[in-house]
Amino acid sequence: MKNTYKAVQVTRPGLVETVEKELPEPGPGEVLIKVEACGICGADAGVIEGLEKGINYPRVPGHEVVGTLYKTAEPLPAWLKPGQRVGVGRLGGHCNVCEQCRLGHFNLCQNQPVTGSSRDGGYAEYMLARVTGLVAIPDDLSSVDAAPLLCAGIATFNALKKSCAEAGATVVIQGMGGLGHLALQYARKMGFRVIAVGRGDDIADEVMALGAHHYVDIRKDDAVEAIKALGGAQVILSTITESAAVSALLPALTPQGQLMVVGVGKEPLTASPGLMIGRELSVKGAITGTAIELEKALKFSLLADVRARIEQRPLAQAKEAYDRMRSGQATFRMVLTVNHQ
Ligand SMILES: [Zn+2]
Ligand SMILES: [Zn+2]
Repeated sequence: MKNTYKAVQVTRPGLVETVEKELPEPGPGEVLIKVEACGICGADAGVIEGLEKGINYPRVPGHEVVGTLYKTAEPLPAWLKPGQRVGVGRLGGHCNVCEQCRLGHFNLCQNQPVTGSSRDGGYAEYMLARVTGLVAIPDDLSSVDAAPLLCAGIATFNALKKSCAEAGATVVIQGMGGLGHLALQYARKMGFRVIAVGRGDDIADEVMALGAHHYVDIRKDDAVEAIKALGGAQVILSTITESAAVSALLPALTPQGQLMVVGVGKEPLTASPGLMIGRELSVKGAITGTAIELEKALKFSLLADVRARIEQRPLAQAKEAYDRMRSGQATFRMVLTVNHQ
């Protein structure tokens, strides 16, 4: 049996290299996954470019991981079988002990590894993961298709589910990147009237094909005025990181409307108290989801035919694929594939 594996590690911020590592043994509550595919997410910049504080380098990035169960230290729970396809998202598995876990809020567990950040992720042939973080992948969903749904998919799917929008409501999706193009598909399939807000008319046809009822091009139109002319929005789901542009959309909300935030911008959001009070508006964050919520997102994606638009690259081209994502040239989402020799 092979006892080493290839991993793409960030040795220090900005330095990404392929290394040969010793195959680790899973500890209690852990499994070793043989990776088949791993999505590239904007949040990987935290590790690769050193934008995130407190990373212990070297670190293997990647938190949209799909593979098969290769080795376990303990008997598997009844819902898992040896060799089964599983996924791991950004949240690396809850502890079952902290107060949030005892409340059943597993996505808010305070003792949870962050995949590809506080522990090694899926830019690799193998990866260790906590059993509590594992997601069963439906047979009809390919590993490549499942990967981006484990972060970009669940983040937007759950934010819409946790919002106050009911069927028929008008929902604005701000930002037409990796998250936004999934958000607008989910919003359409959940039964909302969808207004997509993006930059440039070159993507207009594609945005409409993905399910938007209306497209607002911020290069041409004032987004708030355009949304107001369409009757305003009950919910704005913002996927972008430019906080000023997120805050600027608040006046487009109807009374008791809600701004859902999933883009992690560094600058503070700003809001006029008069507007918030006068219309009883709210701003809410949503952090991906629990393992079982991820399974629901995957099942919904199959049922409603929601998929990320993907470009694939082999693991050996991880850095080039990451750079392409960062440059904004990728067709919505990049996924690394692992070819085991
Ligand atoms: Zn992510
Ligand atoms: Zn916990």
